[in-house]
Amino acid sequence: MAGSYLHMLLSEDFDVGIKDVRAEPDCRCAWGIAYKQAKKLYMEIGIDLDEYILLKPKYAVANGIKIKNRNIVIFDKKRLLKNLWEQIEFKEVKADLFVDATGYKRVLLPKLDDKLYPTIQMIEEHDAEENIYAYARRTGYAWAFPLGSNRWHIGAGDLNETRAFELIERLRQEYEFGEGDKICSCKSKIRMLPPSKCRPFVSGNVIGVGEAIGCVSGFGEGNAPALESAKILYECLINDELGEYEKRILKEFKWIEEEHKFVEAIQRGKMLSAVLRLPEVISIERERSAELSLNLLFLLRDLIRNLKP
Ligand SMILES: Cc1cc2nc3c(=O)[nH]c(=O)nc-3n(C[C@H](O)[C@H](O)[C@H](O)COP(=O)(O)OP(=O)(O)OC[C@H]3O[C@@H](n4cnc5c(N)ncnc54)[C@H](O)[C@@H]3O)c2cc1C
Repeated sequence: MAGSYLHMLLSEDFDVGIKDVRAEPDCRCAWGIAYKQAKKLYMEIGIDLDEYILLKPKYAVANGIKIKNRNIVIFDKKRLLKNLWEQIEFKEVKADLFVDATGYKRVLLPKLDDKLYPTIQMIEEHDAEENIYAYARRTGYAWAFPLGSNRWHIGAGDLNETRAFELIERLRQEYEFGEGDKICSCKSKIRMLPPSKCRPFVSGNVIGVGEAIGCVSGFGEGNAPALESAKILYECLINDELGEYEKRILKEFKWIEEEHKFVEAIQRGKMLSAVLRLPEVISIERERSAELSLNLLFLLRDLIRNLKP
């Protein structure tokens, strides 16, 4: 997400190269994205996000509670990235600066005291109402994201793979998603650390963007944040303000810090701390995803009160 986007932004002003270990873009993601933010960012490199939108689910149903979806769309991430890669010439150049856009792998920057959760996901066929479904517990959650034409991403992330599979089973029971015809399946990881815990962002002549520096929310939203972080790096580079980069990232993603604190409070069973963070989390989710309603409050209250270990 971040690397190819940044490459497009920078190639107007700099001699840039890009390389990837993969021959094809990585599509291991549920393909949800915050529409307003991503539409604007992609427009800057001449991509119309609307051309890649598969659908906009009307509701998100989490632990049985239904909330109206405001801003999350499902996009064909694989096709968008493929088209983007076709516009890019993959080549190495003699560089003054290297960008680590390797996601959870963080290949170039110093290693972290990390928190990587394994994820499992498959595409299956189901005939169900096209909403986003989630089943959460303290340490992780399972999801079903509609892709249109009866296809669904069914997946989960948790402390380990066994627990993730367990969560998928619970999701199947909760929403009656039987074992559908499987089209593909994959495993990956997701970084559950906010930017402040992924420092340094800069080390020698290496600078990080996206998930490599923790631009993923406590609820696993990393697509639009990856683009946003790349845009910030681009602005710092063209304005010769690299020294401002860390400060700008921390400021932009304060909401990610807040969400992580909320999730961490729940995981540690610190209910008072979670309750105190509720108003902030509600305001974040209202901006990024859901419509403000009593059900949103009920859902977050349910997460705090009833989550099973
Ligand atoms: C199962 C799953 C579901 C998710 N669902 C959602 C969702 O619905 N919505 C959302 O917003 N976020 C979601 N996320 C998070 C989101 O996908 C990531 O946070 C986002 O893709 C991060 O973007 P990035 O550019 O930092 O890294 P990535 O998109 O992961 O890109 C990293 C790139 O680095 C390459 N690379 C790795 N190692 C090397 C190397 N040694 N040399 C060169 N290249 C290398 C990889 O091949 C890859 O192309 C999900 C994540 C997972 C795992």
